[in-house]
Amino acid sequence: MTVAATRYPHLLNSLDLGFTTLKNRVLMGSMHTGLEEQKDGFNRMAEYFGQRAAGGVGLIVTGGVAPNRAGWVAPFSLRLSSASQVGNHRIVTERVHAEGGKICMQILHAGRYGYHPLCVAPSRIKAPINRFRPWALTGKGVTSTIDDFRNCSALARESGYDGVEIMGSEGYLINQFIAAKTNKRTDRWGGDYENRIRFAVNIVESVRREAGEDFIIVYRLSMLDLVKDGSSWDEIVQLAREIEKAGATIINTGIGWHEARVPTIATMVPRAGFSWVTKRLMGEVSIPLITSNRINMPDVAEQVLAEGCADMVSMARPFLADPEWVNKTASGRVDEINTCIGCNQACLDNIFSRKTASCLVNPRACHETQLPFVETEVSKKVAVVGAGPAGLSCAATAAARGHKVTLFEASAKIGGQFLIARAIPGKGEFEETLRYFKRQLELHEVDVRLEHRATFEDLKEYDEIVVATGVIPRQLEIPGIDGENVATYSEIISGQKKAGERVAIIGAGGIGFDTALFLLHGEREHDTIDSFLTHWGVDKEYRLRGGLGDTRVESPAREIHILQRKQSKPGVSLGKTTGWIHRLELKKNGVKFRVGVEYLSIDENGLWINQGEREQLVSVDTVVVCAGQVSEPGLMKELDEKGIGYHVIGGAEKAAELDAKKAIGDGVAIADSL
Ligand code: FAD
Ligand code: NAP
Ligand code: SF4
Repeated sequence: MTVAATRYPHLLNSLDLGFTTLKNRVLMGSMHTGLEEQKDGFNRMAEYFGQRAAGGVGLIVTGGVAPNRAGWVAPFSLRLSSASQVGNHRIVTERVHAEGGKICMQILHAGRYGYHPLCVAPSRIKAPINRFRPWALTGKGVTSTIDDFRNCSALARESGYDGVEIMGSEGYLINQFIAAKTNKRTDRWGGDYENRIRFAVNIVESVRREAGEDFIIVYRLSMLDLVKDGSSWDEIVQLAREIEKAGATIINTGIGWHEARVPTIATMVPRAGFSWVTKRLMGEVSIPLITSNRINMPDVAEQVLAEGCADMVSMARPFLADPEWVNKTASGRVDEINTCIGCNQACLDNIFSRKTASCLVNPRACHETQLPFVETEVSKKVAVVGAGPAGLSCAATAAARGHKVTLFEASAKIGGQFLIARAIPGKGEFEETLRYFKRQLELHEVDVRLEHRATFEDLKEYDEIVVATGVIPRQLEIPGIDGENVATYSEIISGQKKAGERVAIIGAGGIGFDTALFLLHGEREHDTIDSFLTHWGVDKEYRLRGGLGDTRVESPAREIHILQRKQSKPGVSLGKTTGWIHRLELKKNGVKFRVGVEYLSIDENGLWINQGEREQLVSVDTVVVCAGQVSEPGLMKELDEKGIGYHVIGGAEKAAELDAKKAIGDGVAIADSL
């Protein structure tokens, strides 16, 4: 037994399903990537899934595929309903099998979440997150939809898939039949619970009848709806038993409908924050159970399995971050794992903006054919200046390609602004990105020179110079800005200055919101699963349907005002899929927003503003400036003056609209071009 196998005995153990064996307990969970609908999508998916299969994952589940047109998530989403589509899917399955992997296709009928006018549901009730009102399926429509699931699974088998996952959770069609809140039917598909689960059970039965015994059927079961009038715990147990009887091979865990107002996968959810849900179901059925949500590193995955929470773990986003997650775990290279930080910035946010998914910490994800890693034929001497996210990714990638890299950093530590960001409640995972880069620099023998502010003299001997000197906070010219009661966000977050009990924050961008969260929670971060659940009103005892309880509003640590000059809604620039969490969190803590203001002056009474043509005082003890950033120009000016050519990336290139996705992406792109 290898050292890693001893350290992760549960995770690396095989799972015997009777007719087939999975090589370990790791499932790559279903994720829509946007490749599905692209012109060359199947070839790109083959490379994407192929790399994950080669990376050692036990079982892959594809993104959702609709069984018919009404089931589309959006117009022209991927559908498998006719034999003419089989050939394309074979490109994917053959590649995965060639890498020694196994792959199931997820069948997803979006129901009332379908973003198109043909969407259907058990009843004609609009979802709060969709502008299209669904059509209610007729009785005949229900039976033909079940048949479409059967047909889709038969075609999946013909396409070479090892099985299917039937999506029964997250508030999609099957879930809509199960919950009384969305199913008001009076026929045999509505009314009491037995009737409402008949749709789900009949689908599994008909898929099993069609596919035979040697085909994996994973059923994704909503074990915690997190919506009013969702299922009770007894009903969930009853459903699980019926699904087992109907012929499912494995039950996977679904947490929360998409319309739920509880964070379920974002970075502030503690690691494995919902595995207790799956644990409740252990022993109630005899088929294996999979747990999921915010499991991102081997130790937490092993712990979940060792504690008997499940038989297998599902991770989706961690395989965008690192295709080799399993192989690195199995060969004792856990410190080389590029960890998913749960930010959603390049995966889900991209999908919701109709872009191809990728990953903030791994820009090659879903772009495997466009951004392949290629070793260099000519090794150059490369200087990278600045060890923030941009410089780190550039130095690590260039060195991995075979260049001889020196990385200059003015401060005593690598990380740039990530050193500040990691202190924000819920952003502790940024630490993993720094650990990853540090290890990459060691592995590829980058010469790291800390506390070394690079000048022209240091750089003149290099073949290539990359300037990644980042950003500095914008200085404002408001009378009183130099006062004792004024601080920058970095002075507050790094602890150099302390804020009083009443604070005005100038700037309502990402950093303004983060600083407010820091000032509200500080060390009171939800570091335990129970405190997170209590805060968001999740009741582990399921006293109410859907697992919702009372939300607890702690008395806020401070009175906070956030101001901006624009008239627009504060926080519009926050992440598409996570911004609502931050806005809700600040609202719950009584933070007051002021828009359309003009800053007049600061004195010992606070911040004087002009708002709505009225001069007024925001009476506070401390004013914190979060008014964006500007590029650090010094070095570039010097190089320009000497006529030395250089590349410039990250915040040094453009401070506006800068984020770590751009910084890391720029770093990889330039390193690939050297
Ligand atoms: P920087 O991080 O600014 O790094 C530049 C580095 O260059 C610094 O280490 C500096 O010391 C060094 N340097 C400068 N001049 C020299 C020189 N002459 N010689 C040597 N070294 C030099 N982004 C996100 O995408 N998502 C988030 O959730 C997020 N949250 C954030 C929260 C906070 C509180 C903050 C402050 C930032 C957050 N960001 C977030 C922004 C993100 O951190 C930045 O976009 C990113 O760090 C920019 O990377 P960079 O490498 O271009 O610059
Ligand atoms: P930002 O999002 O651009 O916000 C800057 C804020 O400062 C705005 O509210 C702006 O509002 C105000 N401002 C700009 N110029 C000003 C001036 N001269 N005087 C007074 N106010 C001024 O920048 P940021 O908050 O510094 O964030 C930097 C980057 O980090 C962002 O682009 C973001 O992507 C990233 N980040 C992301 C997250 C995340 O959760 N995804 C979190 C933190 C940071 P007005 O102009 O209306 O006054
Ligand atoms: Fe994880 Fe963020 Fe990458 Fe998405 S973008 S996979 S959440 S690290």
